[in-house]
Amino acid sequence: MPNPPSDAATRRGIAPVICYPNDTLPSVDLDLLLDARKSARKTAEVLVPPRDARCFEVPAGHFFRITSVEGPQVGDLNLWNLHDLNERFYSGKTRALHGTHVTTGERLWSSFPYLRPMATIVADTLDWYGIDQYGGSVHDVIGTRCDPYTGNLLSGTQYHHCCHSNLTRALADHTGLEIPVAERLVHDVLNVFMCTGFTRDTGQYFMKASPVRPGDYLEFFAEIDLLGDLSACPGGDCSSEHSSDTAACHPLLVEVFAPAEGTLSGWQSPAPNGYDRTHGR
Ligand SMILES: [Zn+2]
Repeated sequence: MPNPPSDAATRRGIAPVICYPNDTLPSVDLDLLLDARKSARKTAEVLVPPRDARCFEVPAGHFFRITSVEGPQVGDLNLWNLHDLNERFYSGKTRALHGTHVTTGERLWSSFPYLRPMATIVADTLDWYGIDQYGGSVHDVIGTRCDPYTGNLLSGTQYHHCCHSNLTRALADHTGLEIPVAERLVHDVLNVFMCTGFTRDTGQYFMKASPVRPGDYLEFFAEIDLLGDLSACPGGDCSSEHSSDTAACHPLLVEVFAPAEGTLSGWQSPAPNGYDRTHGR
């Protein structure tokens, strides 16, 4: 390693600047949404089996809740525009705008060239967790999704119930697409209930036992018509490992709620991003 320069301490001592101050993002009228939620009625539910995934549809202006049932369990969530699967959840930009983990009042943003809110988080029973002594927190947008390719790379395995494969099968079953086509539409996830961070000494991605308990939930408001796909991760609560059948796994419940007529006055489904897409040509 080269010797540090004489002004190394000065350079390291420069205070960071937030890349994307987010106070100019379109505002969230959380009071309006929570008020509408009070009289919303349940219209659908899907129970996601352990080590498997299921798709669900949520019309714009409806709510969907993901609940831990039976035991601690982490979920890997994909979202698409129901009418255009090219518009999908953009984990990296959501991270850049809101931070490594998301909670109430924050949004899940869609891919280019759409870049608009797909869903807004309206309730999070794990909000109390905050950031722990290891730098860990809940509901991350830093992991990708457990997948069979990384397992093969690291240990030569052929495991078929990673979230990537679960999401692929569920999308294929729901849409009728062939597996290779569906696979290409699967994308980096919101890790629902997962507790993760980066180690301070080596900067490595870590996970630890999720603080989620049966009854805990994360609830969203759909800003556009959504196709959701949720995998109950083979890692269970992700306390030790994933990508195997070793961990205790539990189902996850998805419920959809329709708002009562007239309770969302003033709310409008967001238009796709306003950039003109000429890219200087
Ligand atoms: Zn997983």
